[in-house]
Amino acid sequence: FNLYDDRLEQHAADYANARQRETHRRYDRLVQALDRGLVVPHFQPLVCLTSRMLIGFEVLARWHDAERGPIGPDEFIATAEQHDLIGRLTSQIIRQACEAAVQWPGGFTLAFNASGIQFRDGSLPEILRAAAVPSGFPLDRIQVEITEGVVIEDVATTLDAVHELEAMGVSIVLDDFGTGFSSLSRLHTLPFKKIKVDRSFVHVMLTDHGSRKIVDAVVGLGHSLGLTTIGEGVETEEQATMLTRLGCDIGQGWLFGRPMAASDVPTYLGSIGQT
Ligand code: C2E
Ligand code: CA
Ligand code: CA
Ligand code: CA
Repeated sequence: FNLYDDRLEQHAADYANARQRETHRRYDRLVQALDRGLVVPHFQPLVCLTSRMLIGFEVLARWHDAERGPIGPDEFIATAEQHDLIGRLTSQIIRQACEAAVQWPGGFTLAFNASGIQFRDGSLPEILRAAAVPSGFPLDRIQVEITEGVVIEDVATTLDAVHELEAMGVSIVLDDFGTGFSSLSRLHTLPFKKIKVDRSFVHVMLTDHGSRKIVDAVVGLGHSLGLTTIGEGVETEEQATMLTRLGCDIGQGWLFGRPMAASDVPTYLGSIGQT
């Protein structure tokens, strides 16, 4: 029995050490990637669902690793948050995106993702100002997406940051809407301009009656509060048609365009006649 316990403890210790080493390795690699400018913005089109005209881009972080190829944010945003690198990461993404986008034609918007941490510690307005203003990309064409969960966790501090951003001309999008439940009742007290229906609903909307009802209700609620509604994860023409029928204003998804590197955007703009 004792022998077994000892072995179990040894296993647990080995496991903890291995995990700690792995965490350190991830941290080191991310620091290196940030130093070398390997974490870059990609741009995914947002289009008006009735006219199919480009309205803006959502900026999504990608890590270009020499060995592993492109790595998605689900694999490194959490590491950045845990090790106090999220401010640096966000600054670099905003700076690079604005420097590229200021050279493209059209009055499109750029929507950035921010972490809950940055809303809560009040750092976001300053990060945005410092990273965006020098590029010359106008602040009133910048949006920040915040997830519903973050707002629910800490309404008061989040609101302070939201108000400061609004005063700068930056508007706020409530992201992943429908996944956080309780903010429905507070929606009218928050100064959001847009809500984004989570892609989990859009994906099953055509086959799952309940999901369609949720999308319908969210779009209706949004409109009654004077908000613009966005459907994300639109992959098929059928989904686009259904969203349009439900009155959703803006669509985003592979149907309209995958996230692309800055260097591919001018060609994309040419292909849609925006030059
Ligand atoms: P999100 O804000 O909900 O972003 C939308 C995600 O849906 C993106 O995943 C995008 O690539 C994906 N997507 C877009 N259209 C489609 C589609 O038609 N079908 C499917 N299946 N997926 C689609 P991605 O790029 O992997 O980003 C994941 C999450 O990482 C984002 O979710 C966002 O919360 C976070 N993130 C991305 N960039 C940043 C960043 O710069 N800072 C922070 N803090 N978070 C970021
Ligand atoms: Ca987003
Ligand atoms: Ca989302
Ligand atoms: Ca999401």
